[in-house]
Amino acid sequence: MQSTDRAISTRLVHAGEPQERVEGAVVLPIFQSATFSLGTPGDEDPVHYLRYSNTPNHRALHAKLAAVSGGEAALVTGSGMAAISAALLTLLRSGEHLLVQSGLYGGTQGFLQYDLAELNIGYSPIDGNRPDTWEAALQPKTRAVYVECLSNPLLEVADLEAVVDFCRRYELISVIDNTFASPVNFRPLEWGFDVEIHSATKYLNGHSDIVAGCIMGNRDFIERARRKLNALGGSLDAHTCFLLQRGLKTLALRMGQQNDNALALARLLAEHPAVEKVNYPLLEGHPQQQRAQRLFEGCGGVFSFEVKGDVAAAEGLVGRLELAIYAPSLGGVETLIGFPARTSHVGLSPQERSAMRVSDKMIRVAAGIEATADLCADFTQALDALA
Ligand SMILES: *Cc1c(COP(=O)(O)O)cnc(C)c1O
Repeated sequence: MQSTDRAISTRLVHAGEPQERVEGAVVLPIFQSATFSLGTPGDEDPVHYLRYSNTPNHRALHAKLAAVSGGEAALVTGSGMAAISAALLTLLRSGEHLLVQSGLYGGTQGFLQYDLAELNIGYSPIDGNRPDTWEAALQPKTRAVYVECLSNPLLEVADLEAVVDFCRRYELISVIDNTFASPVNFRPLEWGFDVEIHSATKYLNGHSDIVAGCIMGNRDFIERARRKLNALGGSLDAHTCFLLQRGLKTLALRMGQQNDNALALARLLAEHPAVEKVNYPLLEGHPQQQRAQRLFEGCGGVFSFEVKGDVAAAEGLVGRLELAIYAPSLGGVETLIGFPARTSHVGLSPQERSAMRVSDKMIRVAAGIEATADLCADFTQALDALA
């Protein structure tokens, strides 16, 4: 049986685990060794070295991530930004250009705007929901299109099928940051994307206790990305590999609960008289509800909303919640809550934020794995105090 014939929850547990278990250990040990013996002089083994991302802990993770994504190969990196920067620097040469969905993750936007610009690599923003406008943005040296599976914090879903078609038609590489969906909810390589990137800091590890990233794609691209990562030095250390591998085994269980919690909270908020607006793709009235239902198994733990009243009312609500922790990030077991205008979007001017429909009182929630009823009760008590 091919490992890809099995369900993703099974693959998350078993794929990539060494067939002959080390000393019988059910769990792959941590090989806390920077370097490995070359064997016999004159008949040397290949060099295995932590920075080359080829130690036993790396190899097991790469095999698991490849099997989970449906890709040929995978590479783990020292952070999500290490994955994004290594992938883009592998794809693009000086003088080349890419199209990017507007409203990307701030770190990615900064890398494009400042770092790639210094290398004479240009980009043009496109509206992910207007495929008819993309052709006009092409340049003779356009090489790739870069999108995210769900936009932050409005949870919009770009026309991802059109991205794949467009890239095939114009011989471009399609790249997607799939952090917000995770491979449990969406597997872009199966839909025809060339390269999938994650901040593994979020759902893949799932416990808000490491920073990591990964890239999945075909063997040739991943090998070139690994050479680039070797040069940049952004590899993942053995102990963090171990934690990520442990976290991945429970991804399907965690993701299922986070999907359920976010949908239940989004529905509860949408009905509450103290709430003005809720953004979650599976709610009635979301502009891409049908597309989200077609592409995704679930829409993940993140949603955003605005209460009636001013910023002080929104702050009061956040302060009254007992379970949700006021902290940035997402994908961990604890529910986190925050104001995008003060975290992910703090680098933009108020005009830029309002053009993106991110108000100062907008609240973003990243649901954890707590019992749905407890989270709903907590939000209800905090909202009732506002009404
Ligand atoms: C967090 C995040 C990143 C960056 O990941 P790090 O692990 O913090 O480097 C990139 N893209 C998205 C969508 C993210 O949420």
